[in-house]
Amino acid sequence: MRLLIIGAGPGGYETAVEAAKRGMEVTLISEGPLGGTCLNEGCIPTKTFCHYAELIEQNIKAGLDCRPSFAAAVERKQAVVEQLRGGIDMLLKGVDVVQGRAQFKDTRTVVCNGQEYTADKIIIATGSVSASLPIPGAESCITSKEILELKEVPASLCVIGGGVIGLEFASIFRSFGSEVTVLESCPNILPRFDTDLAKRLKQSLSRRGINIETQAQVTRIDGNAVTYIKKDRECNVEASMVLMAVGRRPNTDGLNLEAAGVDYTRKGITVNDRFETSVPGIYAVGDVTGGIMLAHAATYQGLHALNAICGEIDSIRFDLIPAAVFTMPEVAAVGLTEDQCKEQNLEFRCLKSFYRANGKAVSMDETDGYCKVIVDLDGKILGAHILGAHASDLIHEITTAINMGATLQQLQSVIHAHPSLGEVLQAAFHN
Ligand SMILES: Cc1cc2nc3c(=O)[nH]c(=O)nc-3n(C[C@H](O)[C@H](O)[C@H](O)COP(=O)(O)OP(=O)(O)OC[C@H]3O[C@@H](n4cnc5c(N)ncnc54)[C@H](O)[C@@H]3O)c2cc1C
Repeated sequence: MRLLIIGAGPGGYETAVEAAKRGMEVTLISEGPLGGTCLNEGCIPTKTFCHYAELIEQNIKAGLDCRPSFAAAVERKQAVVEQLRGGIDMLLKGVDVVQGRAQFKDTRTVVCNGQEYTADKIIIATGSVSASLPIPGAESCITSKEILELKEVPASLCVIGGGVIGLEFASIFRSFGSEVTVLESCPNILPRFDTDLAKRLKQSLSRRGINIETQAQVTRIDGNAVTYIKKDRECNVEASMVLMAVGRRPNTDGLNLEAAGVDYTRKGITVNDRFETSVPGIYAVGDVTGGIMLAHAATYQGLHALNAICGEIDSIRFDLIPAAVFTMPEVAAVGLTEDQCKEQNLEFRCLKSFYRANGKAVSMDETDGYCKVIVDLDGKILGAHILGAHASDLIHEITTAINMGATLQQLQSVIHAHPSLGEVLQAAFHN
């Protein structure tokens, strides 16, 4: 079978590698470099910066004068990206990789660099691009792409948007010494996360000196001045740099989807539960479908689409996608929030535990944090929300437990190593 994939982000390249392993003849066309947004201007470069920001915070706590410079972080980020890109290149050995912009000609033909490519099945994985606000001066802001290319730390940074991307940059640049203000239009930061957790994160970030204004509607940007309305009052923030971080929009630009008859809206390409579009044989996965915009979601959607193409049934649970926010402290969540449980009229209780009562967290000087596990009255695990060091690693225990249908009673009998942050979860189970 001939498979054509458009886009080499985690949705596209991982599917290409797996399809080649299964003996398909695979062509992968990508305009941008291998790894897509995730590797080149998303997950990986930001996490390299996060790591350096964490080193700074740890050195401050330990009373050490030596702190890594921003220049060192920039150099390391570049090296990490190049190393991982080389790794993907190796993985794609059995795939015909074409660099260029793809455009549909008809339902089975795509044109790139003036050449036509036909395939039995096509997967679109063209990702997303930064969204903006329709306000005067918005075009003068930088986006997540440009901020990752900075060579120097801005003295002050105004971040428009208190979602995942905005908060990660706020946290990073605060550690490197910027004066940071975050403007969020909703009542809470991280609007899609558990409200309680979002409020606690706001307190933690505020204690680190990040000024967070919620219910702040940005109305215009004039050079370095950002104007917003809060409680009917017009307010201003001056900053040497303004980052627009108000989300991402699916990237369907230039694909000429009309030629293939693929249905899409401003929210993304329409797909069914197999990630097949309105045209049989054409699939779409990842950010371009406008669903949960996370790298691991894109990867598993690609795998699910490939399984569908191969006529295989899998048991991937798309209702169970863990999400992490790499602020300091970290955030991670899976399953239902308290608000969602209430909306669904579920009877539930919350089991909480705190990092300050955990021996490993105290010895690491990482006592800011808590964990909340939501269970129904029969002990079924509905969700978990963690704020604190290594939350992004801890969340997988709960993700696995929910996936395997484990009950609270079963989790209570699982022995956790001592001393470990895993005991934060154990303490919640026994609460
Ligand atoms: C700053 C930032 C931080 C992030 N951090 C995280 C994180 O920590 N964890 C996480 O899970 N997610 C994170 N994300 C989100 C993650 O990067 C995306 O969800 C993920 O990259 C989506 O994968 P994708 O395969 O759908 O598309 P992408 O990775 O966007 O890849 C799309 C590819 O398609 C190519 N392309 C587009 N149009 C065409 C065309 N017409 N022809 C040929 N090629 C085309 C592009 O060049 C690109 O290479 C972050 C995003 C950003 C911006």
